[in-house]
Amino acid sequence: MPDTTLRFDTLGPLRARVDAWRRGGDRIVLVPTMGALHAGHLALVTHAKAIGRRAIVSIFVNPTQFGPTEDFSQYPRDTQADLALLSQAGADAAWLPSVETMYPTGFSTRIEPGPAAEGLCGCFRPGHFSGVATVVTKLINQVQPDIALFGEKDFQQLQVIRAVTRDLDLPVTIEGVPTLRETDGLALSSRNRYLDPSERSIAPRLHAVLADIAERLARGAEAGPLVAEGIAALTAAGFGPVQYLEVRDAQTLQPVERAEREARVLVAAYLGKTRLIDNVAVVPA
Ligand code: AMP
Repeated sequence: MPDTTLRFDTLGPLRARVDAWRRGGDRIVLVPTMGALHAGHLALVTHAKAIGRRAIVSIFVNPTQFGPTEDFSQYPRDTQADLALLSQAGADAAWLPSVETMYPTGFSTRIEPGPAAEGLCGCFRPGHFSGVATVVTKLINQVQPDIALFGEKDFQQLQVIRAVTRDLDLPVTIEGVPTLRETDGLALSSRNRYLDPSERSIAPRLHAVLADIAERLARGAEAGPLVAEGIAALTAAGFGPVQYLEVRDAQTLQPVERAEREARVLVAAYLGKTRLIDNVAVVPA
């Protein structure tokens, strides 16, 4: 395990280092992040080291995936803390491009993902998945990893990226990694640090409601009444607005009424000023 993570701020040196590793036969794994790293991100790094020789973590708060009223300027940034965590986790390299490096003057291309980006977060964050698809495609082209890892925490994002890489023949394998949770069930997220103590005590209800719905769906229940009950439970707990609470097919993300094959229950809801998302798998009995 390296005791320091190599830091790259410009593309040329990063490419030279990764090329040398690749020529030496090393399998390269990319973990794209926006920084403000927590144990969930580090679980991706640990998985990267388990499946490949070199783990490269990108840290880039991507302006094109934030809407005009979203938290781009407030998004937590702490490069020194992130680099220390990456060293502890055994990451081989950190890729820290500037906005100018990613989007130089004259940059004018965008990737428009298809149906996987419609509905769910796609309804409430117009342009978000186009921004994600564009930046992830750039990161994959810059690093040219064998494998890129994404958390199931952002399940729609994972499915969008699978579709984009498949449709554009990007020579990379996309792997999803299960969501890391606090002991009370709250999914780890960089945005959890926005929660005040009272909100933090309510936040685990999000996962509890999803888990309850998933269990009943797995036993054959119908989605509609469970979803209505779930929205009521979240509202009573202090969430609002609940942007969506839906049951979708795990592969296609199409809405389903019964979980005849693997499905997902997905939610986005505000708790105070903080927008939280989460999802859980439904594995039919
Ligand atoms: P972000 O920095 O929020 O863009 O996240 C970077 C990557 O880490 C994405 O692939 C996320 O899905 C993943 N991730 C974020 N939180 C978690 C978590 N609690 N468990 C597993 N993966 C996560």
